[in-house]
Amino acid sequence: MTIQTATLGYPRIGKNREVKKALEAFWRGKSDAETLLKIVRGIEADNWQTQRDAGIDHVGVGDHTLYDHVLDWTVRLGLIPERFRHLSGLEQYFAMARGRDGIPALEMTKWFDTNYHYLVPEIAADAKPQANFEDFLATVGRSQIILGDRLMPIILSPITLLKLSRVEGNFAAHLDQLLPLYGDLLNQLKAMGVTAVQLHEPILVTSEANDLQEAVTKTYQQLAQAGLAIHLVTYFDDLGTAYPWVKALPVAGISLDFTRGNNLELLQRHGFPADKRLGVGIVDGRNIWKIRPESVLSTVKAIQAVTENFWIQPSASLQFVPHDAARETKLPEPLRNVLSFAAQKLGEVVMVAKLLSGDDANASLTTLQAQWSAFEKFSSANTQVQAALKKLTADDFQRSLSYTLRLDRQLPLPALPTTTIGSFPQTSEVRQLRVKYKQGKLTEAEYQAAIDAHIADCIKLQEDIGIDVLVHGEFERTDMVEYFGQQLSGFAFTTNGWVQSYGSRYVRPPIIFGDVARPQPMTVREFKVAQALTEKPVKGMLTGPVTILNWSFPRTDISRQEQAFQIALALREEVADLEAAGSLVIQVDEPALREGLPLKLENWGEYLTWAVDAFRLSTAIAQPQTQIHTHMCYCEFGDIIQDIERLDADVISIENSRSNNRTLQEVTAAGYSHQVGNGVYDIHSPVVPTTEQLTQQLQAGIQTLPLRQIWVNPDCGLKTRRWEEVVPALKNMVAAAQKLRGEANAKA
Ligand code: GLN
Ligand code: ZN
Repeated sequence: MTIQTATLGYPRIGKNREVKKALEAFWRGKSDAETLLKIVRGIEADNWQTQRDAGIDHVGVGDHTLYDHVLDWTVRLGLIPERFRHLSGLEQYFAMARGRDGIPALEMTKWFDTNYHYLVPEIAADAKPQANFEDFLATVGRSQIILGDRLMPIILSPITLLKLSRVEGNFAAHLDQLLPLYGDLLNQLKAMGVTAVQLHEPILVTSEANDLQEAVTKTYQQLAQAGLAIHLVTYFDDLGTAYPWVKALPVAGISLDFTRGNNLELLQRHGFPADKRLGVGIVDGRNIWKIRPESVLSTVKAIQAVTENFWIQPSASLQFVPHDAARETKLPEPLRNVLSFAAQKLGEVVMVAKLLSGDDANASLTTLQAQWSAFEKFSSANTQVQAALKKLTADDFQRSLSYTLRLDRQLPLPALPTTTIGSFPQTSEVRQLRVKYKQGKLTEAEYQAAIDAHIADCIKLQEDIGIDVLVHGEFERTDMVEYFGQQLSGFAFTTNGWVQSYGSRYVRPPIIFGDVARPQPMTVREFKVAQALTEKPVKGMLTGPVTILNWSFPRTDISRQEQAFQIALALREEVADLEAAGSLVIQVDEPALREGLPLKLENWGEYLTWAVDAFRLSTAIAQPQTQIHTHMCYCEFGDIIQDIERLDADVISIENSRSNNRTLQEVTAAGYSHQVGNGVYDIHSPVVPTTEQLTQQLQAGIQTLPLRQIWVNPDCGLKTRRWEEVVPALKNMVAAAQKLRGEANAKA
């Protein structure tokens, strides 16, 4: 018996970030559309070849994109919001992605629980979809030459597309309009000789699945009429209670993720229809570790006991991992040898299929086992950290005094105190400094002196503006996670491990490979430099444990909770050291806390329990007189407000400008009793808000929350802004706060 293999998508950024470079050249007017498309198609063809040469039997095709695959389907289906309709072609496409001439882009949000962001389609009540599948069909045509009948077009299902959209009007009516267009697409593919397609339907793993049963059933009944083999593809979690009806849908195959959730249990409990092909997503498309052969083989054998009719494949598109681990020659060999990026994952998929088919793959299996043993020796456990974790008691998570009791001991400040979120503009001069230091062109002392000069300017500026609680400006940090990862043991950094965050923005997430510990203080030097320059309090600035974890590739041999706690212990030492160095205010940022929420509501509680505990573990060591701040730059708080309260931070700074005070209202409505930093200045826009606008925004805030609970600050760090924008905006912000402060004092 030969077991076949499939893929669900491949990295689309190019091995050397060619797509980013091509896009940026095009946007700057340095190259034309033809050049851009030629580069992107070259990479696409290269990927098809790589997958074919690796021995993949069914290669997903059509996931390549100039910016975002959801935007591609939005445009193919003619779901163009009014404000872009006067444009066409690439101009229209990139306007929807990035905005143009003051026309705002589509909103961007996270693709399920990944760190990839897609553009949210806007579907008006009277939307009249109109299909244009030319580019997609042309892609399929090009792939036929390389892949022959191995190709399998990847189609984003109308259900998932609609559920991810901002939809006005009736969902069912919109679906009715879309279905014939999808039907046409399938017919055209069939006319080209295509026999099977993938319909990607990740929405079915969320808590919404059962509400969609009717719409989903109707969709697949209608699409079945084209007579193509439709493979319904799910990933990121199990099908949960939707499994029994999903498995009965009129499709040729169903793909399940066996790396997350409990699909195996569902399969064993409810069986799997003999006439359908099961896509066994067993090679993790979301993480960068090679498979553990014992556990993978035992899972697949358990699946085999339920059905013999299956393919082996990655759990999801490989777009969430970098291209090729073999290029990470700077990493220690024992670590590099157990890393699996897209290229390696193809090999693993084929190896598992071969092992099951009885083909000879034992040599690769032996190599893999040897690589894991070598790695285990290399990443020797940190027994101190493990012991410290075991010894934790409830007290370690609890500040010594409650909020109300510690309040009076904390630093005295005027009403409506002003502060910023931490970073100040990262000019090219600052970035150059870091590059030169890395290249060895600056000594450590020279580099630090240059950073200190920026800190001094920044402190002086904040004093001149009249800000109450100052920051040092974060000039020494490339990135709020990388900076800490580089100083903690247990983290590794790649040279080429880029993954797409959105459009042309790629990130290189750190890899957590061992127990995390802090060999020495990470931020104390810069804090001291800044605090020595001013009488005003300077905030110590840290990134929180959950954010560091969620923006890294985690280990898979211990739980995420355990990793978060290890990071928290390291940060806890830093908090103590900052305090010892004289810091009266310490901010621990957790912008990624909410992003880590599981896809199913029923799993939120468990995640939030340990995530909030991790934050508490990192901060509870602070003395009562030390004021702990946290920062979250988003605006949905209503549904997790109790957990926010349980963080027990003295002050939380939030976004409140773009949401038009809604965030603050939610926080107030929920009875939040600690202090709130009202993020009144929208740092995502180059526009400088006027004192009047800021005053109004603040006044509205004061109506919802008592004055003594309110701080005044921008809604996020100022890193991406220019000094010319930041200085006047902060001046206006302070002026607005002082004005209201004066009025309040006059009344008192
Ligand atoms: N302290 C960080 C900064 O100011 C916070 C960034 C963030 O919330 N994403 O840049
Ligand atoms: Zn922020």
